[in-house]
Amino acid sequence: TNKPKIVVLGAGYAGMMTTKRLTQKLGVDEAEIVLINKHNYHYQSTWLHEVAAGTKKPNEARMMISDVINPRRVRLIYDSVVEIKKDENLVVLENGEVTYDYLVISLGFESNTFGIKGMEENAFSIQDIDSCRLIHDHIEYQFAKYNQEDASDDSLTILVGGGGFTGIEFVGELAEQIPKLCKKYDIDRSKARIIDVEAAPRIMPGFDDELVAYAKKSLEDRGVEFRENAKISECKEDCFVIGEGEEIKAGTIVWTGGVTGNSILGKSGFELTKGKVSVNADLRAPEEENIFVLGDCSWVMDEEAGRPYPPTAQLAIQEADTCAANIKALLYSEPLESFVFDNKGTVASLGKKDAMGTVFSDKRLYGTPAAAMKNVIDNRYLFLLGGPKLILKKGKLPF
Ligand code: FAD
Repeated sequence: TNKPKIVVLGAGYAGMMTTKRLTQKLGVDEAEIVLINKHNYHYQSTWLHEVAAGTKKPNEARMMISDVINPRRVRLIYDSVVEIKKDENLVVLENGEVTYDYLVISLGFESNTFGIKGMEENAFSIQDIDSCRLIHDHIEYQFAKYNQEDASDDSLTILVGGGGFTGIEFVGELAEQIPKLCKKYDIDRSKARIIDVEAAPRIMPGFDDELVAYAKKSLEDRGVEFRENAKISECKEDCFVIGEGEEIKAGTIVWTGGVTGNSILGKSGFELTKGKVSVNADLRAPEEENIFVLGDCSWVMDEEAGRPYPPTAQLAIQEADTCAANIKALLYSEPLESFVFDNKGTVASLGKKDAMGTVFSDKRLYGTPAAAMKNVIDNRYLFLLGGPKLILKKGKLPF
């Protein structure tokens, strides 16, 4: 056929929503749509810390792509992208090649260890379903073998590098899970430590002081220890080295201290700003007529604040709307629209029953109302993607 071919790479928040919107905006005869993803399922990256802690099962955080995207309307290819050859309008996959007329790159994030010695080799990272299931299995194994093998108390310690959003949400889940594991394996709760290490003077840099103080107290009350102002100089197999040589030993080490755009961007010859593509206002890569870059692969300036928007699912979902509209505009040689971010606020969970954040620009929320708001945010995404049916199937419901 000579229908224009739109190829979307990665079925995360940005890729799924772009594909969904394209199917809504374009008729079957107007374009061929192809979605390429590593797995046959879509997972919610914002729930990965729960999978890693073991408070959510892998299947609860993922769904079959074909359950939400009609495979008769969109060609679904389950394969890994290896490289994009922009000069040839070609995507190289592990098991084949695909050409495109329009390309959407939404391949998400990769862990960034900033070159800290030994971190990549010795720490786990919160990356995808499989890496998080591995973290959970590893933690459980440490607890299971403790009484069997007369293991050291250090083996029960869980060390988390980074006190940003992900690190804090992760220790919040651990605070809930660890007492359960202690009970299950007949271990005294005081023997299992959860330690979060942050290089900045305080955890959650960039967050409101009052909210951070609230989060810290809530987590400390449940046994989380914080080491702020503590720069990790090295990660060894069984410890972090802090500053001049202090060692904190642990049986499980997880790095949450940084993410960057997918390394395929660099491999494919895109010019990078901190590992991402600094996109034009219409979300296209500079000097590319037909390539859009979204989500955690995109660097989008918040002109008012003079810095880029933080990479969030919220941003990725909103970019998807603009991207789909702009692809349609390109098909009909109409003017493209500029992306405008509408910040609806940010809520960080602190376990299942507590949370904190800001909503409606500046309103602070704590505790149960914040935890409820977090569920509303998660369910809203499921609604956008698959309507009420998907909320019932995969949502966070109070019953
Ligand atoms: P992703 O959702 O990561 O999707 C990328 C997709 O590409 C994946 O499906 C992946 O399998 C696929 N892929 C990757 N490489 C390849 C390849 N080579 N070939 C084929 N497919 C590939 N944001 C919020 O707004 N609110 C929150 O509360 C929040 N909490 C978070 C908690 C955690 C623990 C984490 C890790 C992140 C959180 N974020 C949150 C950030 C949010 O998850 C990301 O900003 C968001 O996932 C970015 O969406 P994306 O579509 O760019 O990438």
